[in-house]
Amino acid sequence: MKLFRKHQDGIMIIGCGRLGAKLADQFSDQGKSVVILDQNPDAFRKLSTTFGGLSITGDARSYDTLKEAGIGECSDVICVTNRDNANVMIAQIAKHVFGIPRVTARLYDQDLQFLYSQMGIDSFCPASLSTSYIIDHLNSGLQEDKQ
Ligand code: AMP
Repeated sequence: MKLFRKHQDGIMIIGCGRLGAKLADQFSDQGKSVVILDQNPDAFRKLSTTFGGLSITGDARSYDTLKEAGIGECSDVICVTNRDNANVMIAQIAKHVFGIPRVTARLYDQDLQFLYSQMGIDSFCPASLSTSYIIDHLNSGLQEDKQ
């Protein structure tokens, strides 16, 4: 089965939680080829009715599941399950076994970020992003108060 319109242009999202579903919907709206995996089939209810990609049920820590879902035809893999260990494991399989050019993982533990950047895995930490946002927001409010 040919999952994507042209070789190496797909985006694979692992984990159809609130973030994964939102990303999948937005990439799909932009006309990108999207496949989203989750081990819980009920999770796909979060996708919008206009989602035009593929949703596949399975444990993404499995090599066979990733392969059958078409990971080999993706240029991007985004790991947003709710577990750092799973995100790291899947990101490493994507990067080092399947050779995916760009792999991004959500890490709740900020201390892991440096380690995984050394392995070529981009990561983001929701707590760090929220902290930066709140500090910037409060600081810009303080500036406005002074004027
Ligand atoms: P959230 O907690 O809203 O970020 O959702 C995380 C999603 O990741 C849930 O829908 C989980 O079912 C899914 N998930 C967790 N572990 C795995 C895994 N190993 N493979 C596929 N999906 C997973």
